[in-house]
Amino acid sequence: MNNTANQAARRRKVRVDTRLCEGHALCIDSAPEVFDLGDDDVATCIETPPEAMWDKVQAAINSCPRQAISFVST
Ligand code: SF4
Repeated sequence: MNNTANQAARRRKVRVDTRLCEGHALCIDSAPEVFDLGDDDVATCIETPPEAMWDKVQAAINSCPRQAISFVST
């Protein structure tokens, strides 16, 4: 990754849309280091996981049946 891509990547955050999440927990299967389920069965996440986790986060995005997870630029 070049410097520009690195800087752009560092500004990304992970978001879970709690209005969409239905607690399927598939995101936790994909990236247990990043996602967890709260007491209300809604997913929580580490907003700025290390870059090494991003492939797993992308897998979680792909696996979420509610499209509740996204990368957002800050
Ligand atoms: S896979 Fe999607 S719907 Fe299921 S817990 Fe994770 S964010 Fe919520």
